[in-house]
Amino acid sequence: MSQDACELLHKTQNELSNLYKVQAERFNCGICAFTLRSPHALGCGHIYCEGCLAEFFDYHRKKGTRTVFCPTCQAEIGCEPPAALHLMKHNIELIVEEGGLNAEDIFVEQGKSLDWKTVAPRRRLQSSVRP
Ligand SMILES: [Zn+2]
Ligand SMILES: [Zn+2]
Repeated sequence: MSQDACELLHKTQNELSNLYKVQAERFNCGICAFTLRSPHALGCGHIYCEGCLAEFFDYHRKKGTRTVFCPTCQAEIGCEPPAALHLMKHNIELIVEEGGLNAEDIFVEQGKSLDWKTVAPRRRLQSSVRP
């Protein structure tokens, strides 16, 4: 193969893999802002990585937060467990696999590089709620 053709092939491969990357990045987690790893939906419909949610609930359990709110829409999170979205997980994995993407680029290591202060639900205006 001539060098030109070789370069062209590399360029096309890069462009293709970028396209897949853009696709994968559409499935973003509202907590880690990376592509969803094992997506789970809360009752309000917002979707987060399973690991992010686990860390999120853990953080609030340790903090002793009584009522937890969705980091995106501030809806109260009830006691029903987050629902696993198997089809979405499958679709994301297909994109990563078909695009030959590096999973480490796509997914953030769970629980790392998260600033929990910014994802912790904002307190409601609750001056009147004092017991
Ligand atoms: Zn996440
Ligand atoms: Zn929500």
